Amino acid sequence: MQILRYGSVGPQVSLAQLGLRRSGYLADAPDGIFGSVTRSAVQAFQKSMELAGDGVVGPRTWNALEPWLTGSRKVAVRQGDSFYRLAQRYGISVRRLEAANPEADPLNLRPGQKLTVPLPFPVVPGDVPFSSTVLRYCVRGLQARYPFISVGSVGSSVRGTPLRLLQIGRGARKVLYTGAHHANEWITAVLLMQYLERYAEALVLEGEIGGFPALAVSASAALSLVPMVDPDGVDLVTGELGPGTQAYFSALSMNGAAEGFPRNWKANIRGVDLNLQYPAGWEEAKRIKFAQGYTAPGPRDYVGPEPLSEPESRALYAFTRRLDPCLVLAYHTQGEVIYWKYLDREPPGARELAGEFSRLSGYAPENTPEGSAYAGYKDWFILEYDRPGFTIEAGRGTNPLPLSQLPEMLRSNTGILTSGQMSAAVSCSAEGSRAGIT
Ligand SMILES: [Zn+2]
Repeated sequence: MQILRYGSVGPQVSLAQLGLRRSGYLADAPDGIFGSVTRSAVQAFQKSMELAGDGVVGPRTWNALEPWLTGSRKVAVRQGDSFYRLAQRYGISVRRLEAANPEADPLNLRPGQKLTVPLPFPVVPGDVPFSSTVLRYCVRGLQARYPFISVGSVGSSVRGTPLRLLQIGRGARKVLYTGAHHANEWITAVLLMQYLERYAEALVLEGEIGGFPALAVSASAALSLVPMVDPDGVDLVTGELGPGTQAYFSALSMNGAAEGFPRNWKANIRGVDLNLQYPAGWEEAKRIKFAQGYTAPGPRDYVGPEPLSEPESRALYAFTRRLDPCLVLAYHTQGEVIYWKYLDREPPGARELAGEFSRLSGYAPENTPEGSAYAGYKDWFILEYDRPGFTIEAGRGTNPLPLSQLPEMLRSNTGILTSGQMSAAVSCSAEGSRAGIT
């Protein structure tokens, strides 16, 4: 983590401010600027934690902030404690406490035993730039609260950042949802993570998600999420890789005369557009994009030297093949539309699902425009498997979309995200592989 002090700026400042706000030491919403109000808050927080009150966020202060960044803390059981007493002490429900501590025997708590205590706020924030560091805290936080979520990675980015994978549900129907293939569409990572949190919470509280009992969803499907396919690009756009880093400097030189750096950056950190990397008409995509002038690494639309030349697209491709899902959704942001075909290929169930998704979200099913009809992730999935694969373009406006659109985006997409796991229109290899598809 960065060492933050008066005058620091960037997403890690927002993250520290989030922790200070959640712990009650800062009234204002995070703004990414370390001014005098933030400094006073840090000092007050440090005092309460018996740290030197220097107002600088270094390793010890980051460490002390951790419970408010992950949304839970470890506490030691005292003599005479029960789940009920602990729940009362920390202002949470017994059910949440049980869920976070599946190994603990509520009838036999031992003094000194460590338990995970969820704090009374959601883990996944909707008010800070969602860099790979924020995602890391969220993954840790969700896993602590909901140990039935399994976490891992499908590979690593160019800079070695894990391409994080979260899995939930025990059903036979395997589905895979991805976000942030494009750097400046990072809001889709928050969308998927907030959906996952709501779903996990509904499982624990035996509530509903997208109009279905969460338990029924979990019995129907096994959901895999890769919320951030392009973490390095996201870090560039959010400012985590700021001026003064080698990565920023090298991206800036690839950016050339293009406007709006880094907020218009879509590519990975080597300047390759990850959604033009898949083996489905890649040569055609190359011909089109070269004709448009995208012939070299840059902020967008460069197809790369060959299909799957980048570690991110290669990792997602390989993971998809290992998982062999019945359906994939690839989340992007632009225009509230649903792309559901590859050229004229229409997998069984795809038309019906596109209609269902459209009714649930209000988004319009459309044919992919000719200029971006090739080499996308869903294109390859449809071509390879002849199963439904969708690009969902959430939200409207200029990317990166503001976080103010997130609540509406989550409302519009909760139906789609749940229906992908429940709809009768999704049929799976468990019901027999389709002829000719291997
Ligand atoms: Zn996109």
